[in-house]
Amino acid sequence: MYVESNDIQVIETIEELQKKLNRNERNHKTVGFVPTMGFLHEGHLSLAKHAREQNDIVVMSIFVNPAQFGPGEDFESYPRDRERDIRLAREAGVDIVFIPTVEEMYPMDGGIRILPGMQASELCGAARPGHFDGVLKVVLKLFNIVDPDRSYFGMKDAQQLAIIETFVRDFNLRTAIVRVPIVREDDGLAKSSRNVNLTTAERTEAPIIYRALQIGAQMFAEGADPNAIEQEVSDWIVCNSSGKIDYVRLLAYPQLVPVLEGTQEVILACAVKFSTTRLIDNIIMSTKDGTYVPYDDEQ
Ligand code: AMP
Repeated sequence: MYVESNDIQVIETIEELQKKLNRNERNHKTVGFVPTMGFLHEGHLSLAKHAREQNDIVVMSIFVNPAQFGPGEDFESYPRDRERDIRLAREAGVDIVFIPTVEEMYPMDGGIRILPGMQASELCGAARPGHFDGVLKVVLKLFNIVDPDRSYFGMKDAQQLAIIETFVRDFNLRTAIVRVPIVREDDGLAKSSRNVNLTTAERTEAPIIYRALQIGAQMFAEGADPNAIEQEVSDWIVCNSSGKIDYVRLLAYPQLVPVLEGTQEVILACAVKFSTTRLIDNIIMSTKDGTYVPYDDEQ
């Protein structure tokens, strides 16, 4: 029988978490799951808030997943703060926080890979080879361990969300996927754990990313051509900051293929590299009464 407790439970082993969340013990209580890499901010806490409102039990995982980092990427320098994360998760009403070690999650590598389909051939999938293989691997493990009724993902990582929705559908995974809007700083910069790695000057420049995307979104609503929009957004960022463009793309969402006549939803997405910090952001627009309007962010 699942025992309720007012305080957050910190669990580090798969065995203990599985025992706690065993369906026979759950007594029909619903489980909402929020997977994260920690160093929590309001974006993560918004996911937790949605999960809190919709489920009896809220589980958050905090795991910097080495399988989704490529050689030379920032796995080592990714920010971490276990005690602060536990405190913030507690304040957000999380019941169980799962913080496994790398050895606990990957005691051996049997070499099995999960390969995403065409949706991974663009954007971060193209820029970070193997990234989404690593994401799908950890997500499947976590889904199997937690067995959630609903899992919460941010639209900040819109490509990840699109691929996971396909994964769940293709493999009949049991969880429902809930999309949560992007949470931004007052100046428009999308909240990210990586923002702390920006220098002061870079932090001042970084809001240009969202401003440039807004200009691109406006151009799209007015009928501009996707290639022209990608060029304009890139130019804006390059001319107004020290950021280097990894990609700026306007594609149909969630398919992530070129926009065609009749496309219902589009994404204007970019990745921008400041000295040591790579930031991503996007605006999703859907058709309403014949025009494209941006999906509302949470401020
Ligand atoms: P991460 O810890 O960066 O792997 O992110 C964990 C989850 O939080 C993912 O589903 C992200 O999309 C989501 N997330 C991260 N930043 C934001 C944000 N600014 N707004 C909404 N969701 C976010």
